[in-house]
Amino acid sequence: MSASYLWTLAFAVALLAGLGVKFWLATRQIRHVARHRAEVPADFSGTVSLAAHQKAADYTLAKARVGLLEMAFGAAVLLGWTLLGGLHALNQALLGVLGPGMGQQLALLASFALIGGLLDLPFSLYGTFVVEERFGFNKMTWTLWLADLAKGLVLAVLIGGPIAWLVLWLMGAAGPMWWVWAWAVWMGVNLLAMVVYPLFIAPWFNKFKPLEDEALKARVTALMQRCGFRAKGLFVMDGSRRSAHANAYFTGFGAAKRVVFFDTLLSRLSAGEVDAVLAHELGHFRHKHLVKMIALLFAFSAIGFWLLGLLSRQPWFYTGLGVAPNLEGPNDALALVLFLLVVPLFTFFVSPLLALLSRRNEFQADAFAVSQTGSHDLRNALLKLYEDNASTLTPDPLYVRFYYSHPPASERLARMAAAGGAP
Ligand SMILES: [Zn+2]
Repeated sequence: MSASYLWTLAFAVALLAGLGVKFWLATRQIRHVARHRAEVPADFSGTVSLAAHQKAADYTLAKARVGLLEMAFGAAVLLGWTLLGGLHALNQALLGVLGPGMGQQLALLASFALIGGLLDLPFSLYGTFVVEERFGFNKMTWTLWLADLAKGLVLAVLIGGPIAWLVLWLMGAAGPMWWVWAWAVWMGVNLLAMVVYPLFIAPWFNKFKPLEDEALKARVTALMQRCGFRAKGLFVMDGSRRSAHANAYFTGFGAAKRVVFFDTLLSRLSAGEVDAVLAHELGHFRHKHLVKMIALLFAFSAIGFWLLGLLSRQPWFYTGLGVAPNLEGPNDALALVLFLLVVPLFTFFVSPLLALLSRRNEFQADAFAVSQTGSHDLRNALLKLYEDNASTLTPDPLYVRFYYSHPPASERLARMAAAGGAP
């Protein structure tokens, strides 16, 4: 049995196993939510209305059903690119026009990204203008949607283009250890993005105003000082331009470090509840969750680049996925695209571990918030946020283990009560 054949087999098995597990989880979630739709769970009977509970159930079901369709479509597209010869045909067509070299490689990456983006478009449109719209969340106009799309394209060309060129150049010129250099570049870009994004990119999409409510500002500043957090600013973002979903986050480091509240959040929460949400964010900061996540990203991407360095030199890596490697000219762009297509099939099986880590971080941040502001306000704030975002109170427990980066409301409130912070 040839290596190429074995690789095709491994790919097919990973694809089918992943699809099977995802389909099974999605149908579990759909059944579980539908079964609990009729009644508000006992723990929430005094705080959540039946109408809100059922809206959350319907919203969850609508998203899960689209998710099933998207999953099947994604698998078909993956097969189209690989075993059915799509990537091979695209590569040959570009070789015919441009000949081998850097230009052809960049064109291959660009056209792959463009075609992938176009194929995703119907789902993103349906998600925003049908699903979100139906549940009253969408605030996006067509003009804004088109402007976002255009800005995204400009950023992809201005930022993605030079990075792609640099990585391809390193792959061709830096010898067998190119992947160490490429990894260093990639990490540098990620760190730089943490400063550049809040200062220059995010303001291109949203307006950020300094928090003006003096009373709230004084409270929030006092809380931050108590927690030893020095941010360069408190900002309110006009999240309501696009969606009724509410959120808060902190971002950046050094001079770019800032706390951002969505205007949708401020309009819904009392001052004490805003404090509690901020204390939760500060809990992430106190426990160094961001730094730990970056360290994890460093480690994972080192493994990824090393693996790419290894695989890109094996002919079976290409032929097993339906692509003939170029005989004259570099194969680096082909290797990159194939790698990006195939890696999610295998990392999917690690995703429960990452979700577990993320949920653990949320519990830690909650505990910190309770220690700073008590549990009453955090509890009320969480209930409002879960309700406003129509997050179901009754997700399937196994589905949660696989996918949820944030624990469901029932688990967070139970954990707070157990920690002695009974309401
Ligand atoms: Zn959090």
